[in-house]
Amino acid sequence: MTETIKETREFQTETKQLLDLMIHSIYTSREIFLRELISNASDAIDKIRFESLTDQSLLEGNTNFEIILLPDEASKTLTISDNGMGMTYDEVIENLGTIAKSGTKAFLEKLKDTGAGSANDLIGQFGVGFYSAFMVAKKVTVITRAPGQAKGVRWESSGDGTYTIEACNKESRGTTIILSLTEEHCSSEQPAENFLDRYTLQKLVKKYSDYIRYPIKMSFIKEEKPRDAEGQVIENAPSTQTTEVRTLNSMTPLWTKNKNEITKEEYHQLYKNLFHSWDDPLEVIHSKVEGVVEYTTLLFIPSHAPFDFYNRESTTGIQLYSRNVFIMDNYKDLIPDYLSFVRGLVDSPDFSLNISRELLQHSSQLKKVGKNLEKSILKSLESMLTKERSKYETFWKEYGRAIKSGVYSDFQNREKLQELLLFPSSQANDQLTTIAEYVSRMHEGQNYIYYAAGKDRSSVERLPQMELLKEKGIEVLYLLDRVDEFAIDALHEYKGKRFQSISKGDLKLDGINDADADQETDKLAKENESLLKAIKEQLDGKVADVKISNRLKSSPVCLVSGENSISLSMEQILSEIDKTPYKAQRILELNPHHKIFTVLQKHYQKDPSSEAFKDYCELLHGQALLLEGLIPEDPVNFAEKIAVLMAHSSDK
Ligand code: ADP
Repeated sequence: MTETIKETREFQTETKQLLDLMIHSIYTSREIFLRELISNASDAIDKIRFESLTDQSLLEGNTNFEIILLPDEASKTLTISDNGMGMTYDEVIENLGTIAKSGTKAFLEKLKDTGAGSANDLIGQFGVGFYSAFMVAKKVTVITRAPGQAKGVRWESSGDGTYTIEACNKESRGTTIILSLTEEHCSSEQPAENFLDRYTLQKLVKKYSDYIRYPIKMSFIKEEKPRDAEGQVIENAPSTQTTEVRTLNSMTPLWTKNKNEITKEEYHQLYKNLFHSWDDPLEVIHSKVEGVVEYTTLLFIPSHAPFDFYNRESTTGIQLYSRNVFIMDNYKDLIPDYLSFVRGLVDSPDFSLNISRELLQHSSQLKKVGKNLEKSILKSLESMLTKERSKYETFWKEYGRAIKSGVYSDFQNREKLQELLLFPSSQANDQLTTIAEYVSRMHEGQNYIYYAAGKDRSSVERLPQMELLKEKGIEVLYLLDRVDEFAIDALHEYKGKRFQSISKGDLKLDGINDADADQETDKLAKENESLLKAIKEQLDGKVADVKISNRLKSSPVCLVSGENSISLSMEQILSEIDKTPYKAQRILELNPHHKIFTVLQKHYQKDPSSEAFKDYCELLHGQALLLEGLIPEDPVNFAEKIAVLMAHSSDK
């Protein structure tokens, strides 16, 4: 093979910014670089093990999987080697030179908003592990070879904006990372900051990486004076140097222990390790199941939803193990999409190690396990809601939308999911309420659960349709998130109580409005039959019906949708998502007690074909549209009519 020329390349702008941040801004817990590099090494070994299940030749006979730490006083370097998957030339550029993952960019943007102080928290969410090496090293050298490649690759950077890359010889498969430590991180004065110190390394591995499933070995040179026949040290003899290798981690998977033997801290460390997170999880769910299929699950709800959670392709963060041995990552179909934020693992002696992905997909054991996982996640959320409300609300802020999407995607668990929903409401100020809590506050005789959809609290509160309910002191759930109405529609009812939109069909007020009021509405409708018909004709095709309203108190008019039609707010959402326009059946409701209604009656009686009557109809319709956040069909015409009306009123 011809020698490849050594190239100097620039980091992507974002990478450069990130490196700057790593080197200058993040002072705390620099020691976690070791955890990050060990995790990467362990992942790389997982990868080759998995790939080798279908292609043995990748292993090149090198199957003693291990991670080796080599502190070297003479060169002031700490070397971390693995015999994992390694990287090809292009992969090195992609993984270490550019940020293929949009994560870093999003990370930096978020950091701009929140300030450098939160960098430690943020990094965990975005996973920029490798670069943490620059927190302790003035130069990082990566020598790596992927299986089947004749040559290896040597990458080097001082974190100053450029890196070099060239082909090189590398005998063994895998990756070696050489950290040339900065002066402060190899001085023996402060052992905790000295990453050449054997005890420091030992302690750090115990603390962060004890459960890594491959041996993490430390290789170091031991100097010893020889001993005499009685075992006494011979002081004046020259020392001998021997290389000692010690395994630092116990490799006992935490989840195999009994729950009561595990501390919260241990769970959290494992989570950070397995899922490259820098912050603690919100919740841990650990259970052992015995039955037809025997397995252990350890699940975590991360404290924060990934930044792209709601618009990425769904992946699941569930790892599969068989008797503590990793089989695969990201196993889809194990838990439903809406719970894809859950991270964790399932370990079962019943899973076969040599199983292919395709076969796994059809395994009925896994289906059963999946069902149970879902059940235990929902149960844990239910208990969080009743016992730790504020924690649950934190959860809701991050994942509420996911639960709502579960309501319409997971028919079987709908009854459980409906209990987990939270909504703002007209009663609960800034607090959130469950549907059960709403029901417990329902008035005597109230048969429906009322809700209103809108873009925020204040616009919903001011909807004309709210007027009567406000007056009667009836609580209304506020559906302020775009997906809320879809979830409520899917539910249809809660324990026999139907959901009723305040802007849809007839506002069913049985049990609330007195019989007299209803009779009055009917009477007025009869008396004004021809007027209502004339308005409908005037608004030709724009509304399906014109009615006397029983829900308006001070507003003259409102627009509602038909009983069996989609709502107006849904119409807007759907037409944004899909170009085919979904239309709500629109009904114009008039307040018979408003002064405008009397004026309308007068114009109609005088001359139903007059311009004045026509203009009034148009203007009322336009107003009703505006109240719903919709623009009148012909805004210019609408504005002109208002101008004329205003000019007239000043004549008087
Ligand atoms: P993350 O591990 O979160 O993906 P990193 O910045 O730590 O992010 O690593 C970037 C990528 O570089 C990894 O996804 C992996 O593909 C590759 N990589 C890092 N370390 C190793 C290693 N020891 N062996 C093989 N590939 C590695």
